[in-house]
Formats: sequence, C-alpha cells, structure tokens
Amino acid sequence: MDTLKKHIWTHLFLLVLIAISGMILVSSLSGINYILRFVIFLAIWYLALIGISAIKKHKTRATAALTILYSLSLLNTLLLINLVGAHPVAFIISTFATITALILAIIFKEEKEHTFSPEELPEIQMDSSVIESAAQAEKQDRKARAEQKVKIEAEANLEEQTPKTKVIKTFSPSRFIASKKGSTFHSPKCDWAQKISERNTVWFNTESAAKKQSYKKCKACL
Ligand SMILES: [Zn+2]
Repeated sequence: MDTLKKHIWTHLFLLVLIAISGMILVSSLSGINYILRFVIFLAIWYLALIGISAIKKHKTRATAALTILYSLSLLNTLLLINLVGAHPVAFIISTFATITALILAIIFKEEKEHTFSPEELPEIQMDSSVIESAAQAEKQDRKARAEQKVKIEAEANLEEQTPKTKVIKTFSPSRFIASKKGSTFHSPKCDWAQKISERNTVWFNTESAAKKQSYKKCKACL
C-alpha cells in the first residue's frame, strides 16, 4: 500500500471516529438546536468525505479543502463544550480526532508531490527505464538520420559528378589526335589521323593542349 492510500484510509478512519463521537455529542441536544448542529456536522462530514475521495486526483486542492472542513468541524465541536459533562469521552475523541486529521491534512499539503517513499521507488525505476529506452530510441533515430544524411550527400556528390562525365562523353568525339613524330593535330575522322600508328598516337582533349605541345592545326580537317 503506498503512502497516498495509507493517507486516504487514515483520513477515512478519523472521519468515522469524528462522525460517531460527534453524533453521540449532539444526541444530548434537543429540538431546533439538535437539528441545527446535526445538519452542520453532517454537511461538514459529507464534504470531508468528498475531499478525501478527491485526494488522489487533486491532492493540493483536496487537502486544502480538508484543512478548512476539519477546522469548521473542530469549531463546531468546541461550541458544544457545555456538553462535556454529558459525554466527556465523545467530546475528547471528537476533538482529538479532528485535530489529528487537521494536522495530517496540513502536513500532507506541505509535502510536495516529488517526495517519494521507498515503496514508490520501484515505480520511479520503471520510469527511468522508460526514459532510458526513449533515449536509446532517440539515439538510434539520430544515427539513422546521420546515415541518411551521408547517403543523401553521397548521392548529391554522384549527381554533381555525373554531368562532368556527360560533358567528357559529349566532347570526346572532338578530341584531337596527333603523331609523336608529326607536327599537326587532327580530328580522329581525318584521313591523316587514320594513318598514325597506335604506337605514335598522342591524344589531346583541347586544341590549346595540343598547341601547347607545339602541334599545329591540320588544315584539311580542322
Ligand atoms: Zn587532318
């Protein structure tokens, strides 16, 4: 049983104690005075019961309401002090139970929701494992995204390179051919180019490259 449940049961036990002793106390009254006191007590106890049942969901507000209700109950009991002679035990039980419940409500209200009892620790550990697995998932996700990024970058590089290859391919027919022994460069289709032996063949990608090697344009083909 966790602290909250223990707390709720303690409140219920005290409320029953307060109600029984209160009823005994009021029973010695008569007429309108009896009805009035009884109705006031009943209203307070009923509201206290609602407050106790709301502790789990609205701890702060419920305990604040209980503090007020127990204070009213205590006040109502103390106003019946002239009945001590008739029911001393009931008066003492009612007063003490109400004070105890009041203190309990105040203490519980002061306790912040982040203070844990050892019994609650397993739940926290479960939470930490949940957090851990979430972190793991996040890590994997980040890794996957990094891999995706690398892949995209590689593809982008490939795309960047592809046009270059295309350019080379497109311009490859206009490559120029010359003989190591000759002094002119030709288009590969030139009749003179066909006569150059494979051993002596020199290729140039551009005219300027050929000119740099001091070759001259063939007047027949270029
Ligand atoms: Zn030529």
